[in-house]
Amino acid sequence: MPMLSRRSFLRIASASAATLPFLPSLLRAGPSTLQAADFETLRRGVGTFTARGGTIRWLVRDGAVVVIDSQFPDAAQTCWNDLPEREGQSLDLFINTHHHGDHTAGNGVFAEHTDRLVAHANVPDLQREAANEGEAESLTYPTETYTDTWSESIGDETIRLHHNGPAHTGGDTVIHFEEANVAHVGDLVFNRVYPFIDIDGGALTTNWISTLETLHDTFDDDTIVIHGHGAPDAGITGGREDLLVMRDFLAGLNEFVAQALEEGQSIDEIADQEQLPGFEEYAREDWPLPLEACLRAVHREQTGGGNA
Ligand SMILES: [Zn+2]
Repeated sequence: MPMLSRRSFLRIASASAATLPFLPSLLRAGPSTLQAADFETLRRGVGTFTARGGTIRWLVRDGAVVVIDSQFPDAAQTCWNDLPEREGQSLDLFINTHHHGDHTAGNGVFAEHTDRLVAHANVPDLQREAANEGEAESLTYPTETYTDTWSESIGDETIRLHHNGPAHTGGDTVIHFEEANVAHVGDLVFNRVYPFIDIDGGALTTNWISTLETLHDTFDDDTIVIHGHGAPDAGITGGREDLLVMRDFLAGLNEFVAQALEEGQSIDEIADQEQLPGFEEYAREDWPLPLEACLRAVHREQTGGGNA
């Protein structure tokens, strides 16, 4: 199999860095960013907050306030100020699903209200590596990390964290509130849109696929699954069946690239697709992440330039 030339490697590296800023811009609706700020209550004190960036999930119960992910500082501040039913309770625990800036840039806002910031053990290094020059010192890092699983009861809720190896990044966490039966899978699900596959940040689509299957078996038909991102009409909450929709897309991407490599196509031929056969509905004008970046990432993984 052909190895990547240095030129294509650099192009891929800069393409993946360039895709991230599109995520917040997608959700920046109208002249004021936070006009789009929205709380939704799901079940048993658990809800979501969206403004721009990856979905924030919160828990507010008697004796338990937990927040997952922080978007950006302005969004985080709005989320904390207006958290439904909080009424003066302090923050017991803050958790990050992974290190990407659209999930962690507002961490500092929540760090003012708790000493307990939990994330996977790989997150601090990934944050440092992804930081722009001179920015690493000003980031807010986890104060507690774990490697495989982590669990704790707060108030009358039991919180369980799972890490199933590299998938969307090298430091993904899935957070299950067991009593409410609500799971936040972070960016393991881009609900019915092209995902960001962060090879430089440790992504591995083959393990991402098996992780989605494992999680599908871990949850049940009553589990509410919160996604990091979603198509505007598909939304950021659903059920465990969404995990298999995401699995099918990643598997389709892998099959397409493998077949094209077998036919001897070049990386530029492989990446030059209007849509992925079988997944035509993913080619949407209102979603900024391109199919090309997905194809280049999987090509890199399959030709030895990734994390396999
Ligand atoms: Zn992400």
